[in-house]
Amino acid sequence: MELLHSGKVRDVYADGDDLILVASDRVSVYDVVLPTPIPDKGAVLTRLSLWWFEQLADLVPHHVISATDVPPEFAGRAIRCRRLRMVPVECIARGYLTGLGLTEYEKSGAVSGVPLPAGLVEADRLPEPIFTPTTKAPVGEHDEFITYDDVAAEVGDETAAELRRITLAVYRRGAEIAADRGIVIADTKLELGWAPDGTLVLADEVLTPDSSRFWAADSWQPGRAQFSFDKQFVRDWATSTGWDKRPPAPEVPEDVVAATRARYIEVYERLTGLSW
Ligand code: ATP
Ligand code: MG
Repeated sequence: MELLHSGKVRDVYADGDDLILVASDRVSVYDVVLPTPIPDKGAVLTRLSLWWFEQLADLVPHHVISATDVPPEFAGRAIRCRRLRMVPVECIARGYLTGLGLTEYEKSGAVSGVPLPAGLVEADRLPEPIFTPTTKAPVGEHDEFITYDDVAAEVGDETAAELRRITLAVYRRGAEIAADRGIVIADTKLELGWAPDGTLVLADEVLTPDSSRFWAADSWQPGRAQFSFDKQFVRDWATSTGWDKRPPAPEVPEDVVAATRARYIEVYERLTGLSW
């Protein structure tokens, strides 16, 4: 198989007309990949994504062909999917204000051209979920907010409307399911692609902690940084070492690895109601 792409945590291979998306156990903190893997993280995120694709299948078709027909060395943490022509937009939904969305709001009172009420603070819940697309920047550059009209200019009115509709519908469904299980999904990023017949298909990974912000609902409190459901242990530990957040990151001790692994599994079990 040809290795097409190696991201921070995943590798993408071409196998005939299909793609094999392989999730590793790598974890990134403050955008830096840690030298120590988190055992089973790749498998947990792969299974979570597969579960979500099924929950969402009545809203949008997905790209998965098989979770088992993959090379044996990747078994459990890879999916075989249809290779699509990817829409050149990152489709982001936000139900809460944080991260780059908050920064943009503080500058302009809007995100992706969507005006928001004055006086919102870190982690505030938005009056309703909003569609805040960004460019898909090449490696090393940062994605930038674009407006709905920019998307329409790029892909046409009809596709832009579909992207917004699907993105918000997926977010709402995901957030509703997660809320019942004590997890706030603050925001999430989707990637869609066109099938040869022009249908929009949900691709990449969906509603995982790598593509979304998951917060513990019982400790959610606007006005301060939230506890990240999956990465808080490893993040707090990294900060406590005095690391300057520039590569290379320090090796992670065993107990922190174990606690982080347990959190990923907890996210999976809570959301899906299945046991790992
Ligand atoms: P990172 O996520 O580390 O910031 P990245 O997004 O470049 O970097 P990955 O997420 O590992 O790296 O890469 C997955 C790549 O595969 C993305 O470029 C994504 O757009 C692409 N992709 C996902 N699903 C499909 C699909 N069905 N068809 C074609 N490309 C796809
Ligand atoms: Mg990616």
